[in-house]
Amino acid sequence: MIEKRKFNLSFPVEIINWNGRIIHLKPEREIAAQLELLAAAGISSVMVAGLHREEPLAFDLSKAAVRIGKIIRHHGFEISSHHCLLPVFAPLADSQAPVRQIMEETVRFCHQLGTGTMVFHPGRISGRHLDVQSIFAGFEKEAAAHGVTRIIETAAENLREMAEKAAAAEMRIALENVGRFEPLADINLLPELIKTVDRSNVGFCVDSGHAHAFGEAVPQWIKLAGKKLFETHFHDNHAALAGVALPGQFIQSSKYFDQHLFPGDGTIPWEETIKALLEINYSGAVTFEVSVKPDLEALHQYRKIIGWWRKAEIEAQKLIA
Ligand SMILES: [Zn+2]
Repeated sequence: MIEKRKFNLSFPVEIINWNGRIIHLKPEREIAAQLELLAAAGISSVMVAGLHREEPLAFDLSKAAVRIGKIIRHHGFEISSHHCLLPVFAPLADSQAPVRQIMEETVRFCHQLGTGTMVFHPGRISGRHLDVQSIFAGFEKEAAAHGVTRIIETAAENLREMAEKAAAAEMRIALENVGRFEPLADINLLPELIKTVDRSNVGFCVDSGHAHAFGEAVPQWIKLAGKKLFETHFHDNHAALAGVALPGQFIQSSKYFDQHLFPGDGTIPWEETIKALLEINYSGAVTFEVSVKPDLEALHQYRKIIGWWRKAEIEAQKLIA
């Protein structure tokens, strides 16, 4: 019998403002206000996103990472993960060195931030992408010229080198399933990529919404990740693309498919999902990737999600006991 347990719950905290041209850090008091609300809701773990080299920055990345890390720790929180944005491969005929350079820098500033887990999407080609079509086109061009297997091998080589740097800093890489919203990210290709990388600190971030939108079973994803489940992004939707023949290999994400609803407000089988977490003995954070506006209602919203989850947790444990 599995002992009764409560998972460590985590929520996003916003640290940047993006105006479409340049990234600014949020003022410290705005970050602190979010942390105070979460603390009032009994939360002590947060995910952050937004520090990266892919867009112009109005600040020094290293200094910002140290500063944000300090603010968060000062409020008594740990950072369950940082959601990074970076390429995993360059065009195969080109040198992979620039990609590996970005990977190395990413490990460095995430370490300065003080997180143990870096989450990112697994199939981005290098270059500045103004829209997701450019990510699709870059991948399709390389796949036509070299085949998907060669892309996976190249990405895996780059990730192995990043994994080595991460391991030296006692950090892990969690590649996120993005279904067919991006390359190498569905239930067939992402497990293949992670198997090819074959490093103990390279695993999965299971995003429940991205799986369910395409009709991929969330509990199946969790079991498939097993010991390599390092982070979760939990939110709900109505599986709008399940069984739908897509017009191409990929489809642009939208709020109609990827609704980012509170867990329980869509059609994900949550008790089965929690049962799967218990079965793999998951010890990481359950991170709700939902946006809660920091207004008067925020504390109520956080409490609603937490209360709902704790009830579902008890029901799921009855399925096992
Ligand atoms: Zn996600």
